[in-house]
Amino acid sequence: MKGTFMLGMLVAMLLGLTGCYTNPETGRQSVILISPAQESEMGASAFAELRTKEKVSHDPEMNARVRRVGERIAVAVGDQLPSAKWEFVVFDAPKTINAFALPGGKVGVYTGLLTLATTDDELAIVMGHEIGHVTARHGAERMTQGLIAAGIGLALDAGTQGRKNHDLAMIGYGAVAGVGMLAFSRVDESEADLIGIRYAAKAGYNPMAAITFWQKMEKESKGGKLPEFLSTHPANETRIGQLQGWMPEVLPLYETAKQRYR
Ligand SMILES: [Zn+2]
Repeated sequence: MKGTFMLGMLVAMLLGLTGCYTNPETGRQSVILISPAQESEMGASAFAELRTKEKVSHDPEMNARVRRVGERIAVAVGDQLPSAKWEFVVFDAPKTINAFALPGGKVGVYTGLLTLATTDDELAIVMGHEIGHVTARHGAERMTQGLIAAGIGLALDAGTQGRKNHDLAMIGYGAVAGVGMLAFSRVDESEADLIGIRYAAKAGYNPMAAITFWQKMEKESKGGKLPEFLSTHPANETRIGQLQGWMPEVLPLYETAKQRYR
């Protein structure tokens, strides 16, 4: 009985969902057995729960800042995330240097990160990077790998589906600050870095801020306790060097966009 059910699930997944996915920004191909609609649903559900668990900041200045930067990046993302219902939330945790984005256009930024990313340019780099993970569907890719590893053992039953979706989204995007935040692969990180600086540049933010931001993070990582963001995002010469190498491509995007946002 259970075997039939699982086989049925497998067939349904293979027939109903996209198999091979080509990243529109980098051309990299990957197997993803989760539809964008499912992904958005998982993201929205995980985000809603997070909002009830974490302390939401109502600081008007910080909220305005995150929304201002986020909305410009959302315009740069455009139809790469057609189902996005954008939400930008500031979480009140001055010691938490972290930010995340979930499918469906759900973005959270912790007040600790806002203190470290002193300019809107730097904030745009971080938000662009996190949103880059979402548009590149890295979480869905990781969930797919998990499903394959488990022999497509996703035994969804009606009663627990919501819960399971939520757990999967958490595994895929590691959105819980300080709790089991899983690192993306180096390839995913590098992809999100590139996509992120493109979004920032197209949104009229100086992509050179990526260099200053990561240098700051590198310094931060030498000062005792590793901030959350750094435990999953190593700040090192390789990362900074790669970002520097991309500048000739993204600086012209910034020069063009700057006129629009003046
Ligand atoms: Zn990342």
